[in-house]
Amino acid sequence: MRFPLATIDGDALRHNLAVVRQLAPDAKVIAVIKANAYGHGLLETARALASTDAFGVARLDEGLALRVASIASRIVLLEGVFTAAELQTAAQAKLDLVVHTFEQLQLLESFAAAGRFDVWVKLDSGMNRLGFRAEHFAAAWSRLQRCRCVATLRAMTHLAAAEDREGHATREQLARFERLTGLLGVERSVANSAGLILTSAARLDWVRPGLMLYGISPVPGLSAAQLGLRPAMTLMTQLIATRDVPKGEGVGYGAIWRAPVDSRIGIAAVGYGDGYPRNMRGGTPVLVGGVRTTVVGRVSMDMTAVDLTQLPQAQVGDEVTLWGEQLGAEEVAPFADTIAYELVCGISQRVAVEWKGSVIRDS
Ligand SMILES: *Cc1c(COP(=O)(O)O)cnc(C)c1O
Repeated sequence: MRFPLATIDGDALRHNLAVVRQLAPDAKVIAVIKANAYGHGLLETARALASTDAFGVARLDEGLALRVASIASRIVLLEGVFTAAELQTAAQAKLDLVVHTFEQLQLLESFAAAGRFDVWVKLDSGMNRLGFRAEHFAAAWSRLQRCRCVATLRAMTHLAAAEDREGHATREQLARFERLTGLLGVERSVANSAGLILTSAARLDWVRPGLMLYGISPVPGLSAAQLGLRPAMTLMTQLIATRDVPKGEGVGYGAIWRAPVDSRIGIAAVGYGDGYPRNMRGGTPVLVGGVRTTVVGRVSMDMTAVDLTQLPQAQVGDEVTLWGEQLGAEEVAPFADTIAYELVCGISQRVAVEWKGSVIRDS
């Protein structure tokens, strides 16, 4: 078996989609699988989640890769397209477009080829990233209504602080969205994972979960287990060496950790070349043979030292889990000053990937 190894559990993905449907039974689901399905594998994840109502990807290439693989579901390009040539390609591939700028609107107005688009018009309800500002939204909407190549219009926005339980910013964004889209009589979409978990008023017609589908909690202080989610990716490797380190000696580059007592150290075959961040602090939790211990010293490109002082039975070949089923990525991420999204997205090409769970072919 090759290590490091990311095992991806297709049954967990399907289970998490079922959790989304329980939380938002009246909404349709755009399963967000951008960035290689958050590191889980674009095509395999799409096949595992074939029962979703639509897929969401960030970029044209991602949508095309799904079509090339014969995935026939609705696919929403969450950033839309940026040139006339891309628009043409999107038409041929029958991709839904998010339209968030007047430049994109003009591309549609100038589109003379065959094909009509299902368009999601994005309001900037307060995040100031993408979307028409409130004062421009109505004008954009009516211009799109007059576009011959527009088949249907839907309205959407994105929440900037959906995971904030106080929800002040979310309430303001929802109020602005309601004011501008409430009377349009079209399908609407607001909520990402955290939004659909915490804010029932954000669920509306379509929800857009990403992170929670992968079994990771998007809400600080609420674990995946508390939300009924099952982590889909487990990143593991094995011990390739062990050694005794006398009190006072340093371990690894820069000797940033020195043994406070006579210690036993294991060297795990994983490093920043695999996407295990170099800035993982000492104290980062890992599991060795299922037992919790911590990283010591600097993570290097191919290796990471772990403390085995309390695990005298641990030996070369033992499995080391960096995150996954028994250790949530959301718990590990803060030790590298990051979020679980970045950890799972960041596993590198060098990591072997193995799928488990029942394999479902798309229809
Ligand atoms: C990435 C993304 C999502 C999914 O967000 P999660 O926090 O992973 O659930 C939803 N909507 C848009 C527009 C996105 O870009």
